[in-house]
Amino acid sequence: TAGIRIENLHLSFGTTKVLAGIDMEIKPGEFFAFLGPSGSGKSTLLRAIAGFGPRPKGRILIGDRDVVDLPPWKRNVGMVFQSYALWPHMSVRANVAFGLEERRMPRREIGPKVEAALELVGLLDLAERMPSQLSGGQQQRVALARTIAIEPQVLLLDEPLSNLDASLRVQMRRELLALQRKLQLTTIFVTHDQEEANTTSDRMAVLDGGVIQQIGTPQHLYDHPANGFVAGFLGTANIIEGRVQDGAFVTKSGHRLPVPAPPQGADRIVLRPQNIALTEERGEGILPGRIRHREFLGSQIRYLIETADGTIIVDTQHGPDTHDHAAGSEVALRIDCRNAPLLT
Ligand code: ADP
Repeated sequence: TAGIRIENLHLSFGTTKVLAGIDMEIKPGEFFAFLGPSGSGKSTLLRAIAGFGPRPKGRILIGDRDVVDLPPWKRNVGMVFQSYALWPHMSVRANVAFGLEERRMPRREIGPKVEAALELVGLLDLAERMPSQLSGGQQQRVALARTIAIEPQVLLLDEPLSNLDASLRVQMRRELLALQRKLQLTTIFVTHDQEEANTTSDRMAVLDGGVIQQIGTPQHLYDHPANGFVAGFLGTANIIEGRVQDGAFVTKSGHRLPVPAPPQGADRIVLRPQNIALTEERGEGILPGRIRHREFLGSQIRYLIETADGTIIVDTQHGPDTHDHAAGSEVALRIDCRNAPLLT
């Protein structure tokens, strides 16, 4: 397994700049996610590491080797595609063996390696089946086994779970993480799904417009977003404008929110829905509003509330003790902003 270092990477399709100065380091054995909206450049960056697509400017080091000028098959990376790309006319066993045969591995070594890879993904029993006789999750495991069998230094996964239904996705992402931990294989996982990135990755890079917005652990990015994009992309964020004055954040409407050690020049505060409670209280520190829209989310009820500082989203637990509010009702918000990030 190897670490990856990317230095000042730029990539264009013709005159369209798609990656603009990517710098990052991925540690050996790390599960790393590229997270961002559609079109942010995640897939292009992953493909550049694998050796597909236009030649980028800059450096991509796998271990201590700059691979920018190497073809994909000389980079020691294994890639799993969204579509799985299995050979439909070959059995599971033959699909997994294919990459090893291409590498001209002696036949007597191929058999045991194929079996070991199928064992790892729990598919040994189905080795003689054809891909069309497998479920989506099983096909995904074959694609994974085929990639692992070549013993790559780095595993690259491009939205590998997006063709699976919701409950299978959750199960497969746990299996994927368990497998990665077992093999200690440096892994990059591309996804537009924040929950998928949050639950699997050691660290992630959030991309937008071909630029890395922030790198860190999921929790660090959620608690300390570097900018409004990251705050809004990871979970729900109410971003309220105002300014810092006398140890508090004062919103545009003049509402005072006490915050510990506010940074100079902060002009926005990030309020998560769970930091705001609906209250019967009135008076100091309480922000009045009116419910514009109510959504039932199952474990929670979400309200969109019109206030003097714009629309604020509040989630309340859906339980035996909680009062439900109808759209149109007047409410009051108590905001706990002790750990609310401030943006400059
Ligand atoms: P993501 O994986 O984040 O959805 P992509 O890396 O696929 O984003 O695409 C990033 C940008 O590059 C998009 O604007 C897309 O239109 C453009 N792009 C991707 N592939 C090509 C291509 N082969 N030719 C031209 N533009 C492309």
